[in-house]
Amino acid sequence: MTQKTWTAVDNYVSEALVPPDKVLDAVLQASADSGLPEIAVAPNQGKLLMLLAQSINARTILEIGTLGGYSTIWLARALPKGGGVVTLEAVPRHAEVATANFKRARLGAMIDLRLGKAIDLLPKLAAEKRKPFDFVFIDADKENIPDYFKWSLKLTRPGSLIVVDNVVRGGRVIDAASKDHSVQGVRRFNEMLKKEKRVEATTIQTVGVKGYDGFTLARVMK
Ligand code: SAM
Repeated sequence: MTQKTWTAVDNYVSEALVPPDKVLDAVLQASADSGLPEIAVAPNQGKLLMLLAQSINARTILEIGTLGGYSTIWLARALPKGGGVVTLEAVPRHAEVATANFKRARLGAMIDLRLGKAIDLLPKLAAEKRKPFDFVFIDADKENIPDYFKWSLKLTRPGSLIVVDNVVRGGRVIDAASKDHSVQGVRRFNEMLKKEKRVEATTIQTVGVKGYDGFTLARVMK
């Protein structure tokens, strides 16, 4: 199996189940026109995020890593009236493009974009003593996944879901001697998960338009 096949099957699936969407297409176009890297989730992955959030009746969502806001919009679409997404982004240009995209999607009112390094923003969020988040999507720098996960546990409640993206890294995750900081970040995260009694988790390998990778799904139990 090759990338060509994975892409063709993803396109086939998307054609059947993720119909063209003027807003999301415009969001991707605006992101590309602004020179943002093409590293947003694929359409079928975006829809999976929306379905997962809907399946637990999520009202509040935290996203770490906004880019142009593509996944943020899928997540916001899962929410009922009165719900909200907080999304964290370190790069001002990405935040600027995302803000325009949220306006384009008419979702600006329900999305709270915070600019800064997630590791600085997360303690501030915790200090706000807001209601726990029902759903967290971790999709920023992979080196800091363990810290993002620790904060996610502080910011959620039993029953919340936490999705961590890009945790297989083309299979390189199994290389204990890897010099790649992202691989080591994911490996530290897995060590942490093994011992973490507060969650039940699994990791699924994926192939598709975005190559070979995978995600971890964790359910907060206590
Ligand atoms: N979730 C987005 C989507 O699917 O549409 C893609 C996010 S992209 C993979 C990762 C984003 O995380 C980039 O926009 C990057 O600038 C941001 N990022 C990287 N390091 C960060 C950090 N330390 N704090 C906050 N954001 C960070």
